[in-house]
Amino acid sequence: MKNVVLLGATGSIGSSTLNVLRQNKEIFTLKAIALHQNLDIALEIVNEFSPEHVFISDKNISTDHPIFSSGCKIVTCLEDLKSVIQNPAIEIVISAISGFAGLQSSYWAIEAGKTTLIANKESIVSAGDILIPLAAQTKAKIIPVDSEHNAIYQCLLGEKDTSAVSTILITASGGPFRRLSMQELETVSLEDALQHPTWQMGSKITIDSATLMNKCLELIEACYLFNLPESRIEVATHPQSIIHSMVTYQDGSTIAQLSNPSMEVPIANALGMGDRLPIKFTALDFSALNLTFEPIPAGRETIFEMAREVCRQKGSSRSYF
Ligand code: NDP
Ligand code: MG
Repeated sequence: MKNVVLLGATGSIGSSTLNVLRQNKEIFTLKAIALHQNLDIALEIVNEFSPEHVFISDKNISTDHPIFSSGCKIVTCLEDLKSVIQNPAIEIVISAISGFAGLQSSYWAIEAGKTTLIANKESIVSAGDILIPLAAQTKAKIIPVDSEHNAIYQCLLGEKDTSAVSTILITASGGPFRRLSMQELETVSLEDALQHPTWQMGSKITIDSATLMNKCLELIEACYLFNLPESRIEVATHPQSIIHSMVTYQDGSTIAQLSNPSMEVPIANALGMGDRLPIKFTALDFSALNLTFEPIPAGRETIFEMAREVCRQKGSSRSYF
């Protein structure tokens, strides 16, 4: 059995991960979960998976909630979360807290040499210069969960050496505002921005997708994860979200990874750690597919140029822009 810690268990990636674990109970034991304040969902997870530890980050939660009498150990102090993550019995840590708050626990997982499944792209974007060398030092394996990066990971066929790679193409759905001009964007609402055409995700990444900032973060994430200069990473709009990214090699071959848009696919790949885990999935209907590619919508070039500058400069800075 492989012992797993799931950080961000009550979120969108958390829920997809639980679906994969649920279908592979004979391989994985969920030892601990972390969340912010969603105790009702946490209790459902506790009742089904019986994790030993539950970390709750919100300091204002009511201790009257039945999760406090459910038998699992409730942890609220960050030092205790660190001990849970770094426990030698833990093999896999899934980093799926949203935003910058996910960095600390990603760091602890990598510091302890755990196989770290990174959904929290903000960890890599904000601290790739620290985390990637740390992983090399501790022999922690970082496996990307973000669908584009997991696709690239699969297309690299396990090769760490990217010298034979010519270019990588990261696909973008384009979000709900793909067809809108910069002027039309001035009148969109929060509700409009939260309506992603192809993916069901947490609110922060959905908004980042609507502004295309998510794709900028993914460009930076790819530079760090695959040790490639930004000049060899292209981004194209692919509204169907079927091809999740592709790698072109120097011999002219391009390898792509395809699936219907479900995060369970990259999560299963990452959890498989080289093996192919069985999960239920909706097969592609190739005769019905019409795969198209377009440039990034007009007017959005500036943020991509900013992201490319971040990739070129790396490190941290207050004054590049
Ligand atoms: P959600 O908003 O759906 O879930 C966030 C999770 O993090 C919740 O479990 C939340 O708890 C928990 N959380 C928030 N703050 C803290 C904290 N300080 N300590 C502990 N737990 C905390 O986000 P997503 O699942 O959509 O995204 C998670 C990460 O995965 C993000 O970095 C995102 O960019 C990345 N990602 C997501 C994809 C997706 O399809 N959703 C695709 C690719 C990447 P609570 O529920 O209690 O608030
Ligand atoms: Mg993505």
